[in-house]
Amino acid sequence: MFAADFEYYRAGSVAEAGQLLAAHPGAKLLAGGHSLIPLLKLRLAAPAAVIDIGRIAELRGISTDGDGLRIGALTTHAEIAASDTVKEHAAALAEAASQIGDPAVRNRGTIGGNLAHADPASDLPTVLAALGATMTVKGSGGERTIDAADFFTGMMATSLGDNDLLTAIRVPSAAGRGNAYVKFSHPASRYAVIGVAASIGIGTTGGGWMAKIKGEPKETVCTDVAVAIGGLVPKPLRCSAVEAALKDQAPSEPAFAAAAAAVSGDLGDDLLGDVFASGDYRKAVASVYVQRAIEAAAGRVG
Ligand SMILES: Cc1cc2nc3c(=O)[nH]c(=O)nc-3n(C[C@H](O)[C@H](O)[C@H](O)COP(=O)(O)OP(=O)(O)OC[C@H]3O[C@@H](n4cnc5c(N)ncnc54)[C@H](O)[C@@H]3O)c2cc1C
Repeated sequence: MFAADFEYYRAGSVAEAGQLLAAHPGAKLLAGGHSLIPLLKLRLAAPAAVIDIGRIAELRGISTDGDGLRIGALTTHAEIAASDTVKEHAAALAEAASQIGDPAVRNRGTIGGNLAHADPASDLPTVLAALGATMTVKGSGGERTIDAADFFTGMMATSLGDNDLLTAIRVPSAAGRGNAYVKFSHPASRYAVIGVAASIGIGTTGGGWMAKIKGEPKETVCTDVAVAIGGLVPKPLRCSAVEAALKDQAPSEPAFAAAAAAVSGDLGDDLLGDVFASGDYRKAVASVYVQRAIEAAAGRVG
């Protein structure tokens, strides 16, 4: 099917994109086009105007600012997957980007488009939820930041307003912690049937004055545990039951298995399923992927 007619505009800068959005209510931004173009062709979206932001140089690139990573919204999945800077500061993000779709999708698709589209089967929202990222957004009222936890509001829904442009993603440095992304891919699209991101620190507990008097040894335990799951829930979900079950536990296979089993308490009843994998099936195997993610993250602490 062909898309319905629309006016096409190309923005040369963030400021110009803002002006075009204000001048054309209901317009859609076009980044890599991998989600928007199919929607237009299927006539699931029929905006009067499309504003192409794909050549705005200031929206591209990966840098560090001392406190973590800054990734421009137009940075492609392939660039994130190949970036040594991302691998050093947020290995799970590079790992997730490298598993998105196929080379064509990774070379055109952008992190900003992926997040704004908010498909529940996308990989990057889950990783950014676990890593505590923030989104920088430019709207008619100026610039603001939104925590990943507040950015995704439901299935394919975000807190972005009509005139908002996502400009960058900030990811706090995970220095000293290990992080990983593990995915059960749909065999045709590679979208996540289940995706789990984990970030874990390992430290010592005990050693207080009483323990010293008693000569008790310090114990190595998991600290700063963050786990998020996607693919089977409408929006990325922080797994608070898993996190609580693992925190302050000695890193061991039984502890990882016990913590992963707690995911059933996190998932709730609003589970997504399709002809490939029902919601019940996804729930039944979710703990396997949670365990793999937390084991991989713990194995990378260093
Ligand atoms: C065959 C196929 C397989 C795929 N497999 C996967 C997968 O395995 N995992 C996965 O995570 N994704 C997958 N995707 C999706 C892919 O990651 C796309 O990158 C993503 O869906 C959209 O990014 P885009 O840059 O193409 O955005 P576009 O399609 O250009 O835009 C998508 C939406 O975001 C809005 N938007 C874009 N940029 C901004 C911005 N800066 N600010 C505000 N709004 C913006 C647009 O207006 C539109 O509504 C797949 C896609 C295809 C076609």
